[in-house]
Amino acid sequence: MRVERKGIAISPGIAVGKVVLLDRSRTIVQRTSVAKGQTKDEIQRFLSAVMRSKEQLLSIKEKLDPDEAGEHHQILNFNIMMLEDAILAEEVVKFIESERVSAEWAVNSVLTKKSEAFKDVEDIYMKERLADIYYLGERILRNLHGEQEDIPDLAEDSVLVTHDISALDVAGYAKHHAIGIVTDIGAPTSHSAIVAKSLGIPAVMGLEDITLRASPGDAILIDGFKGVVILDPDEKEFKDYKKRKKDYLALEKKLLQYAKLPGRTLDGKDIKVNANIEITDELNLALCYGAEGIGMYRTEFLFTNSVYYPDEDRQLENYEKVVAALNSPQVTIRTLDIGGDKFPAGMEPSKKLNPALGLRGIRYSLQDEDTFRTQVRAILRSASDNKIRILIPMVSKLSEIIDTKRLITAIARELGKEDSWEIGVMIETPSAAIIASDIAEEVDFLSIGTNDLIQYTLAVDRINEHVSYLYTPFHPAILRLIKSVVEAGHEKGVPVSVCGEMASQLSCVPLLVGMGVDELSMNIHSIPKVKKLLNTITEKDSKKLLKHSLGLKTENEIRDCVRRAMVSKWGKDLPEEFVVEIVTSV
Ligand code: PEP
Ligand code: MG
Repeated sequence: MRVERKGIAISPGIAVGKVVLLDRSRTIVQRTSVAKGQTKDEIQRFLSAVMRSKEQLLSIKEKLDPDEAGEHHQILNFNIMMLEDAILAEEVVKFIESERVSAEWAVNSVLTKKSEAFKDVEDIYMKERLADIYYLGERILRNLHGEQEDIPDLAEDSVLVTHDISALDVAGYAKHHAIGIVTDIGAPTSHSAIVAKSLGIPAVMGLEDITLRASPGDAILIDGFKGVVILDPDEKEFKDYKKRKKDYLALEKKLLQYAKLPGRTLDGKDIKVNANIEITDELNLALCYGAEGIGMYRTEFLFTNSVYYPDEDRQLENYEKVVAALNSPQVTIRTLDIGGDKFPAGMEPSKKLNPALGLRGIRYSLQDEDTFRTQVRAILRSASDNKIRILIPMVSKLSEIIDTKRLITAIARELGKEDSWEIGVMIETPSAAIIASDIAEEVDFLSIGTNDLIQYTLAVDRINEHVSYLYTPFHPAILRLIKSVVEAGHEKGVPVSVCGEMASQLSCVPLLVGMGVDELSMNIHSIPKVKKLLNTITEKDSKKLLKHSLGLKTENEIRDCVRRAMVSKWGKDLPEEFVVEIVTSV
């Protein structure tokens, strides 16, 4: 039966394919027999997974504030107790030996049996323990897999339909032929959205119940521009979307002509156009799409795809690839920004905590100094002829920068790399924006992370689709704040970049140019588009537009004013698709 749904347009493009329903909420375990001589290995795998699970839970517990985390503490204690329970371990071991099955199947069977004992009890507390058993089982199973769970090869026209998707799964499935992504929940600046956009996969999120409507194998159409999804389309729609897909691919080719343009306005103001990357697989694309440098390598994806953190050499291998790829003097590696909506497998926080305001970015790194030292060593060792730019995320106070600099300086001395690095700070919390002038005195560059700056300034969760209508870069508070950061940086002689999604929004670019931003860093697919726009507009007119916008009091007035001014001034010199994007921008 035909179903049409409107959600949030996340990543542009048209997809015509077949539904693949993805359920990542529970790991699917199949009964697998093992040879008699192999049971010992399975037991060992099981015991190691239990040990790793316990270590992870203890480390989560250690980081909790003891005064605030009462209920979470109880859950953790219950889980740790279960993991220490010799009887449980014995049962699993016996199951492996007697049934000659894999550790996964034994864990699944024993825990299922245990959970059945809780099913009929009336007591609420005991009922909640049932959820804990599922949670524990999932953790042990994930640790049994060790690395990221295997992603099966998909048919070439697969569209993933899922309740939610992690950024890592987006990257993983993109490699395995997924041509579109459709989800019940999600918002435009979530990390899964950013990765989908970067890899050019059409995506629509926030469709609420699409997983209940779709069945595996259903024909599905995605319009990633308007946020429309059609299941079981009629013949005419099917043909229409196929044609639109062809046209869009032709447009993408046309856009590539702009990749070679310099990052420069028509009246000669140079603005560097750099790439944000999440995985090293994107480097080739960055080159083809005309990136002038790497403005931000989000290293957390190296860390979140495994229950083990990568060691120094493994990180070095990745950072060296980035340094070597673009032949550019400017490579910016951002230190681990774990937290928010990015967690390593098995470390996701309780839903009741507020991870965006928690132990995230530099806060985490300064507490887990071993991990931070390893990363800094790898980054410094990757520096070759040019200085490597180290970017620090989620800074909210000056002492975080001082402590970080002290640590990097000491490591650089150990490695004889004293002159190989520069340091920059992400300005993405309101407090950092307000003290930007003091921060600028301590660093070599500033990079404004508008995704978080908007979230924290407007108090709008960037991954919550129910409040995405409030999330906008046109809010006067945002424009004034960004302008003040640019001025603060320039007064102290420090260049200022913008690396949030705002840098790639056509209707925001003239405002940023008007403010005097030195560099724009963005998802790879937007680079040619932004270069073409820069080459069409002038700094002089951008300044005028900014001045006029800053005189307005509401986001709606500012957005309408920008849309109108851009279309009347530059509309005739821009491709039609750009004009459509400008007049529909939010
Ligand atoms: C930002 O916050 O704008 C940013 C670039 O960082 P991330 O999106 O990774 O949080
Ligand atoms: Mg951020």
